[in-house]
Amino acid sequence: MSLPEPQPGIMAIKPYRGGAHSAEGVERVITLSANESPLGPSPKAVAAVRAMADHAHRYPDGGATALREALAAHYGLEADRIICSNGSDELISLLCAAYVGPGDEIVMSRHGFLMYPIAATVCGGKVVMAPENELTANVDALIAAVSDRTRICFLANPNNPTGTMLPSDEVARLRDGLPERVLLVIDAAYAEYVTRNDYSAGMDLVARHDNVIMTRTFSKIYGLAGLRIGWAYGAPGVIEVLHRVRGPFNTNAVAQAAAIAALADVAHVDAARSHNDIWRPWLEREFRALGLEVTPSVGNFLLVHFPGGDKGAQAADAFLVKRGILLRDMQAYGFDHALRVTVGLEEENRALVAALADFLGAKG
Ligand code: PMP
Repeated sequence: MSLPEPQPGIMAIKPYRGGAHSAEGVERVITLSANESPLGPSPKAVAAVRAMADHAHRYPDGGATALREALAAHYGLEADRIICSNGSDELISLLCAAYVGPGDEIVMSRHGFLMYPIAATVCGGKVVMAPENELTANVDALIAAVSDRTRICFLANPNNPTGTMLPSDEVARLRDGLPERVLLVIDAAYAEYVTRNDYSAGMDLVARHDNVIMTRTFSKIYGLAGLRIGWAYGAPGVIEVLHRVRGPFNTNAVAQAAAIAALADVAHVDAARSHNDIWRPWLEREFRALGLEVTPSVGNFLLVHFPGGDKGAQAADAFLVKRGILLRDMQAYGFDHALRVTVGLEEENRALVAALADFLGAKG
């Protein structure tokens, strides 16, 4: 028997690992590994999910018209410049499918989001990684990485897993430094968490330039990761291309209804942001007090750096898993000595810090 041969490059892809919520032998698991919202979904979104169950025999609106209109009204945008997707991950794949062919290149930061290289490689594209400035995207390096074959420049802002961001004037400088033929994708999955006033999710740039597209998600602050719903705002010509590439029913009816309800529940989003504003700095202070280095973050997670040896990141991870605490190992991102921590509920955060204190204090 011989297996069919996949396309070149596919077997070199390391599968994206995410969404595990169990640890062997542990009953109650604390999941701080996937940058989900510890507050969960809005009760209004939950009610919308339940209400849709009776309509499960109907196909969804493939164009997600009501959700696009709700997003347009919420943000003051035009609905026909919006496309909805099965999580924002799908948008990354659709963008690569539409714009990246064999031998073409994408440009991204060294520690940019992992889905960009996966999606580009699937399309036969080559990934060019630009060095960063202290784990922050470096505009000059990104521009310098562009070649005649570059089709897309991906910028996660804020970036996962570093938690760093570029201020709006730097993003504008990146846009201005790219050739018009290169599409700048501003992935603003964590935009709602950012409280700095020099930050912009990129809508202003999209409105001014046809080669900029912004992607967003309901997986993070809206607490709907399990329903897989995201969206993008771009030039009509780019959105129209993505509509051609997407599956006919790429977003389901339950997710569409939940997203509309979640968008309207501003108080829930505010509560999630306030929670994050309290507990992210708390975690950062506690980690530092334990002697760990932390990359300053504007998102709902922290990149925590461990010393090597028996107090290393992998040893810490294994120790925490035994206590039912799941963090994200960062080796796939090239960080051998770091773990990523999602901000959790108060008791989860306290349990993590107590466990880490035990780990670091324990005799090796
Ligand atoms: N972009 C970034 C930067 C992310 O961290 C994530 C989630 N890990 C995504 C996009 C994808 O999120 P989703 O597909 O759930 O919308």
